[in-house]
Amino acid sequence: MRRTLSILGSSGSIGRQTLDVAAACGHEVAAITVNHSVPMAEEQARQFRPKLAVAVDEAAAADLRVRLRDTNIKVLSGREGLLEAASLPEADTVVTAIVGVAGLEPTLAAIDAGKRIALANKETLVCAGELVMARAEERGAEIVPVDSEHSAIFQCLQGCRNRGEVRRLILTASGGPFYGKSCEELSLVRKEQALKHPNWAMGAKITIDSATLMNKGLEFIEAMRLYAVPPDKIQIVIHRESIVHSLVEFEDGAILGQLGSADMRLPIQYALTWPERAPGPAKPLDLLSCPPLTFQRPDPDTFRCLGLALECARRGGTSTAILNGANEAAVGLFLEDKIGFLDIPRLVEAALNRAPALDSPGLDEILEADRAAREAVYQSVR
Ligand code: MG
Repeated sequence: MRRTLSILGSSGSIGRQTLDVAAACGHEVAAITVNHSVPMAEEQARQFRPKLAVAVDEAAAADLRVRLRDTNIKVLSGREGLLEAASLPEADTVVTAIVGVAGLEPTLAAIDAGKRIALANKETLVCAGELVMARAEERGAEIVPVDSEHSAIFQCLQGCRNRGEVRRLILTASGGPFYGKSCEELSLVRKEQALKHPNWAMGAKITIDSATLMNKGLEFIEAMRLYAVPPDKIQIVIHRESIVHSLVEFEDGAILGQLGSADMRLPIQYALTWPERAPGPAKPLDLLSCPPLTFQRPDPDTFRCLGLALECARRGGTSTAILNGANEAAVGLFLEDKIGFLDIPRLVEAALNRAPALDSPGLDEILEADRAAREAVYQSVR
């Protein structure tokens, strides 16, 4: 199955690995988008010859336009460029690999255009999952997850004809670089340590989220939205080896899991080829060289970000948008060396306590909750 892709966020870790898969499996690339990364966008455009290349930043787009003037590739900028890439008629599949709530509007545009969404932007579902899933259903747009855990669950659910047979979803978590550490030890953590994930090579934001375990909290909410299950039907287990990517337990007690090497190209490829499978570039897993597989209980008291996310998962409404907005802002400050590691959960909690969550929010209320949460975090460090 050959697809024609529009890749939103092509210079990030998922974007680059999507291009790897496209090159290996012969998918066409109709559009790429970056924020500022002009040299990489030029290189990708020359290799994959998309119809459209977008740099969100105006100055970057002007630079890219000059660099690509000997080609017939259209170069656009800003929000308009992103939305055009998301709804480009030539593309049948939109890979949403933009980090953060910035991915929400383009995802909705791609849904409205009836594209398959290869969803790599979990923040979209965390902030506005009910709205996004309802819109996809209404427009008949397929949403296939790229997140490795959600892809694993998606794969385990193939062939399940009655969702009522699912007893629970089991999300695995590596535990990140600080698994087993105490609050006191966490208070001394430096950025360089937090950026070293034991198993996965990923972008900076998600790597920090993995260190705080916020990533698993966001994934818990993402799973609730994707699979329309209540929080008490999802269990998180720490699985240090990152070999079992997640599991589904059925009514009869059978548990199906998906195993593989820690290589995102497999879930990316599956999101493109589903319901088919095809040979691809992902590293195969050799069971005979695997370490013993272990499973442990997470600690949401020490890893407070996880605890906060689980509370918001139960609370619902705009609380998940506040959680996500405050976290994005706090992680940004941590990456700029402006706050400490444990300030991330502290600032997220303060933002959650500051404004009451609204029930059944519309898009405007969600975006406002996100904005106010970021503002609350920035104010507290000014
Ligand atoms: Mg994941």
